[in-house]
Amino acid sequence: MRERTYAMLKPDGVKMGLFPEVVERFKNVGLEITHTKEMVLNEEILKEHYAHVADKPFFPELEKYMLSGPVIAMIVEGEDAVNRVRELMGPTNCKEALPGTIRGDYGSKDDETCRTYNVIHGSDSLENAEIEVNRFFPELKKNKTLKKAIR
Ligand code: UDP
Ligand code: MG
Repeated sequence: MRERTYAMLKPDGVKMGLFPEVVERFKNVGLEITHTKEMVLNEEILKEHYAHVADKPFFPELEKYMLSGPVIAMIVEGEDAVNRVRELMGPTNCKEALPGTIRGDYGSKDDETCRTYNVIHGSDSLENAEIEVNRFFPELKKNKTLKKAIR
C-alpha cells in the first residue's frame, strides 16, 4: 500500500551532514521525500512526541540530545513507507543495528549512549505516522482547511 510516514534526522545526524545520504537511501528503495524542513524543537513538542517514554529514567538525556541542535523533519511517501523507513533505520540500539542500516552505520557505538544517539526517527505505525506528520507539519493541515474554505 502506498503510505506516507514521518521521519526526522536527529541533531547528531544533522551535525554529521547525513541529510543527502538519507535522501539517497530513501530514493534507492523507491521512497520520496515530499516535504522537509529544518527546525529546532522545544520541550513541549518533544514531550508530546516522546510521551511513551517521558517517565523513563533516560528521558532527561534524550531531551538534552534532541534539544542540542536543529533536526530535519521529513514527510516520506511510497509503497509500505512506514516499514521501509524503519528497516532502513535499523533498531533503536545502534549496537544492535546491522551495518547497512542508518543507525548501524552512523549511530553511537558507545555502551552508554548507543540507545539514545541513534541519528534518525521514523514513525512506528501508520496511525502514528499521521499523528506525527500533523504534529511537525501543522501548516499543511491549515492549508487544506484554507483551500476548502476558498472553494
Ligand atoms: N531511547 C533511549 N534509551 C532507551 C530507549 C530509547 O534514549 O533505552 C531514545 C532513543 O533516542 C529512541 C527514542 O528514545 O529513538 C524513542 O524510543 P522508541 O522506543 O520509540 O525507539 P525508536 O522508535 O526511535 O526506535
Ligand atoms: Mg518510536
